[in-house]
Amino acid sequence: MSKALALVSGGLDSLLAARVIMEQGIEVMGVCFVMSFASRDIEGFKQNVHKNACSAKIPLKIFDISEEFLRILENPRHGYGANLNPCIDCKILMLTHAKAMMAALKADFIVTGEVLGERPMSQRRDALNTITKGADLAGYLLRPLSAKVLDPTIPEQEGMVDRSRLHDITGRGRSRQFELAEKYGITKYFTPAGGCLLTDPGFTRRMKDLMRHGGLDPDAVKLLKHGRHFRIDAGTRVVVGRDEADNENILSTGKEMDVIVRLKEIAGPYVLLRGNTSISNIKKAASLCVSHSKSKNMASEKCEYWTAEGNERDLEAAPMIRTEIEKYRI
Ligand code: SF4
Repeated sequence: MSKALALVSGGLDSLLAARVIMEQGIEVMGVCFVMSFASRDIEGFKQNVHKNACSAKIPLKIFDISEEFLRILENPRHGYGANLNPCIDCKILMLTHAKAMMAALKADFIVTGEVLGERPMSQRRDALNTITKGADLAGYLLRPLSAKVLDPTIPEQEGMVDRSRLHDITGRGRSRQFELAEKYGITKYFTPAGGCLLTDPGFTRRMKDLMRHGGLDPDAVKLLKHGRHFRIDAGTRVVVGRDEADNENILSTGKEMDVIVRLKEIAGPYVLLRGNTSISNIKKAASLCVSHSKSKNMASEKCEYWTAEGNERDLEAAPMIRTEIEKYRI
């Protein structure tokens, strides 16, 4: 029996591509490569990809490629999309991993849900060719949804896959995919726009700031996913929690050298200070804390701050004025 590895993102196209191949009696193993930008909540994301694949009857294995992805993000060979999304390099990375697994899993070829012309950066014809070449998969990368408008691959030429039962979908319309979803009974999938944080302009702004000032590592990326961010000097970032989840993230992401500030007598945001934790910067962090609390119109409010070592101190802070807040906002 022939076997294929299918890249599964949890979106509709990738689920359909796998099912189109399974329908031909070919065994398919789904693989999902996850990196830290896939979602704000990576564990939840993994669970949902599993649920989507499971409901589409596709067996799935998930692999984390966050560290390698961070290395390509700073200087992607094929550039960025509209935001900080290096889609072509990202796909080449995933497919390079998939290719490396082919021998161990005894797979004959690789399947993706790419659709010609669906996305401006990574799904133009030349981009698809660049991806195939970059992952060294010429002839072995089959895109079942657009296969009929692309060159035949080796599994098609050798009769492993019946080309006549593949598709000729192109462009951004989704009606053909929805028809196929109905045919296969696929109801659980991510929306095309959802997901990757690198396509989000606000997150991109924070990432660019981080990259400009150094310190691009998994911990720093985790911190960027929550809260309001401010740069109060070249080496110092302040993060203000917006809600309970942000406050928890601040507490769990805080490192030894960070300072945490909060209001002393009433509930309000947790604020993390990372970088230069001088007393003048702690005062600025406290002012930002007051400005984002119910006390923003008071003359001042009592705050407390502590370091990871547990040293706790009190201070009184006035809310920061709006122009100063805007000056520091990332
Ligand atoms: S949108 Fe994000 S996850 Fe998707 S290919 Fe681009 S960089 Fe990779």
